[in-house]
Amino acid sequence: MSAAAESVTSRRIVRRMKRAIVIGGGIGGLSAAIALRQAGVEVVVFERAEGLKEASAALALASNAIKALSRVGLADKVLRLGVPVGRHEIRSWRGQALSELSLMKLGERVGAKSVAVHRASLQEALLQALRRYGTVRR
Ligand SMILES: Cc1cc2nc3c(=O)[nH]c(=O)nc-3n(C[C@H](O)[C@H](O)[C@H](O)COP(=O)(O)OP(=O)(O)OC[C@H]3O[C@@H](n4cnc5c(N)ncnc54)[C@H](O)[C@@H]3O)c2cc1C
Repeated sequence: MSAAAESVTSRRIVRRMKRAIVIGGGIGGLSAAIALRQAGVEVVVFERAEGLKEASAALALASNAIKALSRVGLADKVLRLGVPVGRHEIRSWRGQALSELSLMKLGERVGAKSVAVHRASLQEALLQALRRYGTVRR
């Protein structure tokens, strides 16, 4: 099935859906729960950890992630939380460049910037958005 056909099928399924449970309150689960809630689906997120994990590391959010966050109205908030990133490089331990990507060019193509954001801050922003609608349960 093509990506476009899959997307149409997913939208049809969501339109018929009344209630959903999301297992896992990580970045993926919280984002999915916000999107489902905005589509009118009643959502409960179940998280097995005591508290939500606050791994204090930076996360590079590429243009496609920011574009997805803009669909749920959170791009501006996340862009304010982060710092812009113009270039992505993977290097060997000797410092030799293994791969390089201009995130500026990607941003121009996709129509959204890339940012580095504190993982815990991103998760908190998602949680805040979700608190407006639903519940996160253990
Ligand atoms: C070191 C490292 C660096 C990374 N850097 C980047 C980066 O710069 N940019 C980027 O885009 N991505 C990065 N990633 C990838 C990114 O972290 C993951 O893609 C993202 O966190 C996945 O989100 P998730 O919600 O699917 O999973 P997770 O964040 O793993 O969350 C899953 C959640 O589900 C819960 N759970 C699991 N099983 C159950 C169950 N049975 N019942 C209830 N709860 C359950 C867990 O407790 C957890 O809270 C990095 C990953 C690592 C490890």
